[in-house]
Amino acid sequence: MVDNPLKRSKEIYTPEYLAVLERESEKSRAWQAEHEKDPDRYRRSLGSEMRRNFDQRVEMEETSNQAWADGVADGTISTYTEPVVHGNMNSINRQHMSSDRHQHLRGLVVGAAVGDALGAPFEFGPAGAFRDRFPAGSTSNEMVGSSLWDPGEFTDDTQMAIIEAESIVDVGWPDRADMFRRFGQWVASGPKDVGISTRAVLTSSPGWPRAPKQYFEQHPNGSAGNGSLMRSSFAAARWALVGEGSAEVARYLSSVTHADPAAGEGRALFHMLCSQASGFRDLDARMDRFLGFLKDGLREPYERIVASPRGTTMPNGTVWGCFSDAYWAVKRSDSFEEAMYNACDVGGDTDTVAAVAGGLAGVIYGLDEIPERWVEPLHGNVGAQTYRVDDLVELCDQLRYLSIDNANMWDYGTTRTYLPTHTGPPIWDL
Ligand SMILES: [Mg+2]
Repeated sequence: MVDNPLKRSKEIYTPEYLAVLERESEKSRAWQAEHEKDPDRYRRSLGSEMRRNFDQRVEMEETSNQAWADGVADGTISTYTEPVVHGNMNSINRQHMSSDRHQHLRGLVVGAAVGDALGAPFEFGPAGAFRDRFPAGSTSNEMVGSSLWDPGEFTDDTQMAIIEAESIVDVGWPDRADMFRRFGQWVASGPKDVGISTRAVLTSSPGWPRAPKQYFEQHPNGSAGNGSLMRSSFAAARWALVGEGSAEVARYLSSVTHADPAAGEGRALFHMLCSQASGFRDLDARMDRFLGFLKDGLREPYERIVASPRGTTMPNGTVWGCFSDAYWAVKRSDSFEEAMYNACDVGGDTDTVAAVAGGLAGVIYGLDEIPERWVEPLHGNVGAQTYRVDDLVELCDQLRYLSIDNANMWDYGTTRTYLPTHTGPPIWDL
């Protein structure tokens, strides 16, 4: 077990801690090299318990690889190419990221939840309803709740984001079947609200992996909803480091419920934007580059949105309308507060627009800029468990420092196909 000074000191950047990371990554590289050179010899060198562990891993890998190959062969699994970070993602996270950047990525997660809770009482209302109730200069707390939602309570947007994040943390990699199963359990637990197409997909009889595809086939022009974009915050923070590489992860995670690739492109754009937006307010300057990473044939609507946010006639329950309104709300803001006022005032699917805008505004302005009067009452439930701001931040950190397939994350070329296995030892046990 790594002697982890972080656990003792709670200081992320102590030189001792960085030295531990360096040492451990050396060990991991050596382990990997050894394993690949002669697995049998390596196995014999292990003590009995380690050997049992090793055998289990190998067996798990074989089963999993076989299941994966079968899925790819019969078209039920599409491959997901993990962007390779040169070196270990966690040590890069720590060594090359300022503590300020950490606060901005936490701001992404908390900002999205705050927007969700702020916008919830105004869902399906007309444009302007928020400002009518809270005119400029109003001193009342805007976290008012409604007959359905308590003041400060976040909705299905954040609930699903939490489920997605917890699945990745518990499984150790993005496993769509597991996410689908957890989402299904959540629907069965009777949450206050579930999106229409999301509910239809999660409760339809073919289950995973057929259900999202079937829904798309049955509704070819009506399944690019905002339901996969709305739950992006944790994953966008987790893969923020890989920049445009995060687009692949976004598409992959989107497809758990939304087989329409247009929904995946909207989420991809959000992920990419969050990866670069930290403290960076001129969104357009980066947007051109990110648009170039969207898929041909799906890029054009987003180009029009960026050129003229809110110029779209698409309702904001669609991925395009939602992205457009959220982008507009943040673009014309000078503070987190202002971005939220703009987003909550658009009418329609206000909680989701404000959740997306809140994530983007959160990563731009940072956690410290989110007003305490909104953070303090923030809470929500997934099943029987209640989450408050500290829980969201903790889950965000846990996910960001998770060793996803860490031992295999070295120098495999520019990209590699991600297999849902992990043959190396865990490097850091945070
Ligand atoms: Mg909602």
